[in-house]
Formats: sequence, structure tokens, C-alpha cells
Amino acid sequence: MLWLLISFILGIVSHIIYSKIKTSTQVSTDIPQYDHAIIIGGSISGMVTAAYLTKYFSRITIIESDDVLNDELMNFTPEELLNYRCRDKNPSSLGRSGVPQIYQIHLMAAGGQLILRELFPRLEHRLINKYNVRSYSLKNESRLVINDVLLNQNLTEDFKWLGIDRFTLEIEIRKELCLQYGHQIQWICNSKVTQLIVDQSLNTVNGVKYRSKQNSDAPTVDLCADFIVDCSGRNSPSMKWLNEDLNLIIPTEQIHFGCGYTTFVGERMKTGDSLLDSKPIIGCTANSPEKNNGWFIIPIRTIKTTNENSLGTISTIAINSNNSEYPPTDSFENLLEWVKDNLHSDFYTILKSTKETNGLKSLYY
Ligand SMILES: Cc1cc2nc3c(=O)[nH]c(=O)nc-3n(C[C@H](O)[C@H](O)[C@H](O)COP(=O)(O)OP(=O)(O)OC[C@H]3O[C@@H](n4cnc5c(N)ncnc54)[C@H](O)[C@@H]3O)c2cc1C
Repeated sequence: MLWLLISFILGIVSHIIYSKIKTSTQVSTDIPQYDHAIIIGGSISGMVTAAYLTKYFSRITIIESDDVLNDELMNFTPEELLNYRCRDKNPSSLGRSGVPQIYQIHLMAAGGQLILRELFPRLEHRLINKYNVRSYSLKNESRLVINDVLLNQNLTEDFKWLGIDRFTLEIEIRKELCLQYGHQIQWICNSKVTQLIVDQSLNTVNGVKYRSKQNSDAPTVDLCADFIVDCSGRNSPSMKWLNEDLNLIIPTEQIHFGCGYTTFVGERMKTGDSLLDSKPIIGCTANSPEKNNGWFIIPIRTIKTTNENSLGTISTIAINSNNSEYPPTDSFENLLEWVKDNLHSDFYTILKSTKETNGLKSLYY
């Protein structure tokens, strides 16, 4: 009787295991498999796309215009990453040109964070442990005025905000991509895609032509694939190419808009106002055309310090002006003066007590 019972239980267990294996095999065989994908551009969206496509393609080639896999970029210490383009006299020698990598604020919506978590499960842990970044509560540790409304007081649910600068994030994603998916992904760096290879009779794009930037006289190389994704950023030439080669007109809308940023990295010190000091994330957006100036302070590293006045965070600080006089970058004193005249007194109070560490940078677009 006992044996009968045991074999009955074993039968049920093996049925469950078999069903599970069968289900997972079914799922994996349901995913269509293709041979080769090309991605133009190996910055954040190019790398995320590459990681995602590894499910569907056995080979992925990323063609990137900059020398992003050079030893210097891949082996930077956390401090060197922070100083990137700030202290270096000849930043282009580091092999990253064209992409605005200064400390203007970049925000990734919660959906973006979820995608990164799914594709690179170790990334967040590495950022927290290696770079001393921290996660903040949007509800309790921020004061964000968006279009004149204090956003966080109305949140019914909290959001976690990971404070990290964009450049560090990009470098760490690249390292994770190479570690996790390196066997499927080939990088062609220092090479620029110059044209699409198309079949006009079938109306298809079959590949790309690229050339090495190291030798401008070198002939272009043809590379074909089943799928081509353009991740070359906001100045992408794809629309022009598709129009010229396939007579494909993609509707576009031109917005005439001028924006000037002044940004820097600084250590926040106590202001004497405990309410301000208790908010690591603090900012106010411009609300054009009524209000053309905005500002943000976002922590990107926590630091150990013996200075009892320090709040223990390094933050990226950005001031922007839309379609109006841009904030100055010639000296910190002049910037303070400008802030006093043009922005909310809270921001002036914080800025006055902030220790600027990396020099003022400007960006206009
Ligand atoms: C002031 C400012 C603030 C911004 N704030 C935000 C923000 O808050 N949130 C946000 O999501 N975005 C923001 N952006 C946009 C930001 O640029 C993008 O979010 C981000 O850089 C997009 O990443 P990407 O990988 O698509 O493009 P990019 O980072 O621009 O990368 C494109 C890559 O393609 C490469 N490339 C270009 N042409 C070629 C070619 N022909 N062949 C091969 N490689 C090529 C480049 O070298 C580069 O590595 C901001 C931009 C600016 C200027």
C-alpha cells in the first residue's frame, strides 16, 4: 500500500516537472530565430536594443562611430568617470565625441529602469556598490515643482529614483553587455555608417556601408543583415537615406526652440534650512512661455566626509533657460548673481552653500 502511495506521489511529481519542462521548451521554440542584426550606434539605446535582440538573433553587430571600447574608457575609476570632460584638457582624445555627455540632467522614466533591470540584472547592484550611488524616495526625499505644481506631494504611490550620471551609466551598461552577451555581439568601433544598402525593387534595406574613421581614405565596407536598427541618436541620417534611396517620406515636424544649460558637479553643504537640506532631489521645471528658467539638483554619488557641514552627496546641478538669456558660465560668482536675479530664492540659498568641484559647463541646442 505504502509503495503504491509513493509511486502515485512520484507519478504526480514527475508529471508536474515534465509539464514545466515542456512549457519552457514550448516557450523557447516559439521565439522566432534569425541570423544577423546590425545596430547603428552603440550608446545607451544601441546597447539596450542589442541586449534585447540576443533573444532573436544569433549574431548582432554594433557599428559605433566612437572608440568606446578603448582601455581608458573601459577602465576608468569612479573618480575619473566623474571628471570626464571636466578636467581633461583634450576630451576628444578619450574617444567620445559628438554625444553631449556633460552634466545636464537626464532622466529615465520608471519604464526605462525596469527594462535595464530585466536585461542587466546585476547593473543596479554594481552601480550601488562600485559608485556609491543611492536610491531615493521620490515621495519623501525630493521636492520637484513641475509646471508650477509640487509633484511629489500628490503621489499616491512612491517611486524609487536611482541617482547616477549618464556617462557612468553608459560605461557600466557597456561592461555588462560585453560580459553577459559578448559571445553573440560583435563591436565595430571607430567606424561610421555612411549609407544604407537597399533593394529598390523589393523596397527593403539589406545592409549598411561603413568606413573606418582611423583611415579616411579606406574604402567603405558592405555588411548585410536580416534586420537593421538605427540607434544613432537625435542627428540620425536615416530619414534622409530612406528618402534618397527608397523615396520613403517620414512625416516630421520642426520645432524651433532654443535652450541653454549651465551645468556642474558640486558637493552640497548645509544651508541652515533643514527642510531644504533634507531633500537630496530638488528642482523646478521651466514652464515656457510664462516662465523660461528651470533648475535641478540630483545626487549622483554619496561620499564619506569628515566635514560636518557636508550633506555627504555629490550632485549634478543644472540651470536651463528656454528662448531667453542663457545662464552664464564664465564664473561661479556670476552664475550666483544671475541665479539671485532670475530664480527662486531656495535655489540661490542652496547654490550659495554648494562647493563647485568640476567647473561650469554649457550646452546650447
Ligand atoms: C540637454 C539634453 C538633455 C537631455 N535630457 C534627456 C532626458 O532627460 N531623458 C532622456 O531620455 N533623454 C534626454 N536627452 C536625449 C539624450 O541625448 C538621449 O536620451 C540619449 O543620449 C539617447 O541615447 P541614444 O543611445 O539614443 O543616442 P546617443 O547617446 O546620441 O548615441 C548615439 C550613438 O550613435 C553613434 N553614431 C552616430 N552616428 C553614427 C553613425 N553614422 N555610425 C555609427 N555610429 C553613429 C554616436 O557616436 C553615439 O554613440 C537629452 C539630450 C540633451 C542634449
